Amino acid sequence: MTSQYKKIILKSGKEKSLERFHPWIFSGAIKQIIGQVEEGDIVEVFSNKGEYLATGHYQIGSIAVRIVSFEQTEIDFGFWKNKIQKAWQLRSSLDLTNNTETDVYRLIHGEGDGLPGLIIDIYADCAVIQAHSIGMWLCRMEFARILTEIFGEKLVAILDKSESTLPFKAQIEPKNAFLLGEKKQTIVSEYGSKFIVDIFEGQKTGFFVDQRENRKLLEKYCKDKKVLNTFCYTGGFSVAALKGGAHTVHSVDSSQRATEVTTKNIELNPYHNAQCEQITTDAFDYLNHLPDDYDVIVLDPPAFAKHTDVLDKAIKGYRNINRKAMEKIKPGGILFTFSCSQVVSKEEFRKAVFSAAILAKRNVRILHQLTQPEDHPINIYHLEGEYLKGLALYIE
Ligand code: SAH
Repeated sequence: MTSQYKKIILKSGKEKSLERFHPWIFSGAIKQIIGQVEEGDIVEVFSNKGEYLATGHYQIGSIAVRIVSFEQTEIDFGFWKNKIQKAWQLRSSLDLTNNTETDVYRLIHGEGDGLPGLIIDIYADCAVIQAHSIGMWLCRMEFARILTEIFGEKLVAILDKSESTLPFKAQIEPKNAFLLGEKKQTIVSEYGSKFIVDIFEGQKTGFFVDQRENRKLLEKYCKDKKVLNTFCYTGGFSVAALKGGAHTVHSVDSSQRATEVTTKNIELNPYHNAQCEQITTDAFDYLNHLPDDYDVIVLDPPAFAKHTDVLDKAIKGYRNINRKAMEKIKPGGILFTFSCSQVVSKEEFRKAVFSAAILAKRNVRILHQLTQPEDHPINIYHLEGEYLKGLALYIE
């Protein structure tokens, strides 16, 4: 088959990972690039023997190609639409696309949906597109058109929020911009609880959609309890604790915006009269002076390690905060602890928590092993996609 796309030839032996359907090609695997390739171009990848292997987006950097197809095909509007429709069908079968209780979910989860470099989150009547590769960013108008074709009038706004996620080497300096309508804030439902989501100014795409099932699980441990939610962001776990019947909920975040939105979200969900306090402070300081009367503690810090070179430091960080919480939590307490660092494996995280338990000299049992929800699927050929790890622990 002759093709319009530029060609990349791999070094001998470097085709192995593609034969296992891994969706990335590292720059070191490339033997030759035929012709002038620009960032974001679609390229076809061939083995050293000249066999076609895959098609993907080219990018300057350690991950040189992100694979979008293992079949030689044209990458056009119909190709993207088919992929996005398949992802929508999966969410539909998960009962997320037409659910009155929950209208916030991830529609496209990068490699997990065969679309490396692309995230799309749905927030009730808004969609947020976040590109992590130039190739995906260049297709953003097509994605916006596909979304309007799939969702129709249900969507009033589509935001491209790729300003901070595109690699700095690309000299394109994108600005966050609406591709349809303009609505910077919206209100979403998660299991019936309401949340204000500031898609334009908020962190990530606006809300931590990935903690939905873990927040739901927390509910059942909170009846008549005193709960501490550290790194609370917009108060997702705080609202879940209130729904579960907590008598006291303290929410801590270093960002004043975050604690202000937490206050609003607590007001939006008047489950019952609990004592709520939102504290704008450094969570590490707070943990250093932790009172000893919390029954339930949530530790959901931002990623401590974004690169493997800071892995040791990150693991110490997890050990440290878990130790502090375990030392002070009430006997019979419940600790929900998480790591969203992709480079920290499940085993490494668990080891850090295990060391914390030893140092805190407490008996600890694992009640639940937590991960990301089903709308953040993990590509079986790309287990790096399992980034969210958590444990729900009983501290004797
Ligand atoms: N649990 C949240 C998501 C947490 S995101 C949810 O369910 O929505 C991580 C949060 O940690 C962010 O809001 C960020 O502002 C906050 N943060 C980062 N460093 C911090 C620090 N040193 N002390 C307190 N909060 C911090």
